[in-house]
Amino acid sequence: MATERLYFADAYLRTFTARVLQQGSYGDQPAVTLDRSAFYPEGGGQPGDRGTLNGAPVLDTQADAADDVWHVLAEPLTTLDVQGEVDWARRFDFMQQHHGQHLLSAAAEQHFDATTLAVHLGEATCTVDLQYPGFTSEQVGELEASTNMMIWANVPVQARFVSPEELRELPLRKPPQAYSRIRIVSAGNFDHSPCGGTHPARTGEVGSVVIRRWERYKGGVRVEFVCGQRALRDYRQQNELLGLLAGELRVGQAELPAAVARLRASEEAQRKQLEQADARLRGYEAHELIAGAERIAAVPIVVGAFADRTLDNLRQLARQIAELGGVALLGLRADKAQLVFTRGPQVPYDMGGLLREAAAVVGGRGGGKPDAAQGGGPDVGRLEEALAVALAGLRSMAGDRPGD
Ligand SMILES: [Zn+2]
Repeated sequence: MATERLYFADAYLRTFTARVLQQGSYGDQPAVTLDRSAFYPEGGGQPGDRGTLNGAPVLDTQADAADDVWHVLAEPLTTLDVQGEVDWARRFDFMQQHHGQHLLSAAAEQHFDATTLAVHLGEATCTVDLQYPGFTSEQVGELEASTNMMIWANVPVQARFVSPEELRELPLRKPPQAYSRIRIVSAGNFDHSPCGGTHPARTGEVGSVVIRRWERYKGGVRVEFVCGQRALRDYRQQNELLGLLAGELRVGQAELPAAVARLRASEEAQRKQLEQADARLRGYEAHELIAGAERIAAVPIVVGAFADRTLDNLRQLARQIAELGGVALLGLRADKAQLVFTRGPQVPYDMGGLLREAAAVVGGRGGGKPDAAQGGGPDVGRLEEALAVALAGLRSMAGDRPGD
C-alpha cells in the first residue's frame, strides 16, 4: 500500500499521526514507510523533508519505485504508532524557493520564450537552467521584475488532480511526465504546471525573488536565484559585508568602487617605486661585491650563496655584476638549489659549461649561453660545493689561457 501523501491536500500540515508499514533501511540508515505522511520525499529538484517521528530525527525523505515514502532515521523506531512533525522552517523555506522557481520559469517563458531545462533547489542557493542564448543585465532585471510582479499580485495557488479531458483544456507550461493521475499547480492565470511538490497558498508568500547571478551553461543559461527569507538573509549578508569593507576603508558604501580603485592605483605606484628602489639597491650591492671580489686575470669574480631572495632578484644582481665587467657565480638556497652564472661581454669564460658541471653537484641540470647560464638541482646542502667546483673550473680555464 503506497503512502498517503498528506501534503497533497494540505502543504501546511506540520504534525500528523500514522502507523509504520515497513521497517527497512536506506543507505546505511534505518528507515520506515508509513500509511500516511506529511513528509515531502525528494523530487522535482526539491530535497526531501526533515523533522521527527516520535521525537527521533528524520534525516531525509525518499520515495521508491513502488511509490512508498521512506523516512530515513538516525535510530530505529521502537513503536508502530508514530507522531510525525515536519521541520517547518526548512520546509517553508523550500516552498518559497520552489514556488518562486515556478514563477521565474513562467516569466522566462512568457517574456523570453525560454524553456526551463532543469531545476536545482539547494540548501544554500537555487538554480534554473533555461534554453536561452544569453542575457543582458537589462534582461535579467526584466526577468526578475516580472517574476516579482507575479509574486506581489498575491494570486491564489491551487494544486489539484485533473482528468485527461481537463488537462487538454489547460495552457500548460510543460507537458506532464505521466498521463494517468496528473497534479496541476496553478498560480492564478500566470502559470499551470504539472508538479507533485509543496506550494504556498498564495504567490505573495514567496516574498520576493532575487537573481544573484547567471552564466552560460550547456548552450543555455543557468540562473542562480534566492526567494523569500533567503533573499532577505542574502541581503543582510551582502550588506554586512559591504558595511565591513566600507568601515575598513573609511568611506560610505557608495564610494567603495572609487576607494578600491584608488587603493589599487596606490598599490601599483608603490610597487613601481619599490621596484626602482630595489634596482638601485642591487646596483650598490653589485658594486660592493665587485669591490670585495677576488680577481682572476684582472677580472673580478663574485662567488656567493644567497637565501631569502627571489630567483628573479638574483638573476638581476648577476646581470648587474656582468654589466660592471665581472663574473657572477651565484647560488640560491630555496626549495631547491638554484645557480645563476653570468659574465661581462669582454670576459672569455664559458658560463654554460661551468654551470653544467656545477648543477651536476647539486643533482640537477642546467645550461645556457657562454655569457649567461642558469640551472639547479634538489641537493641544497651541496650548493657551496657546487660553487667551489665552478670557481675551480673557472681557474683552470684562466690557467689554460696563454699569456696569464
Ligand atoms: Zn513544482
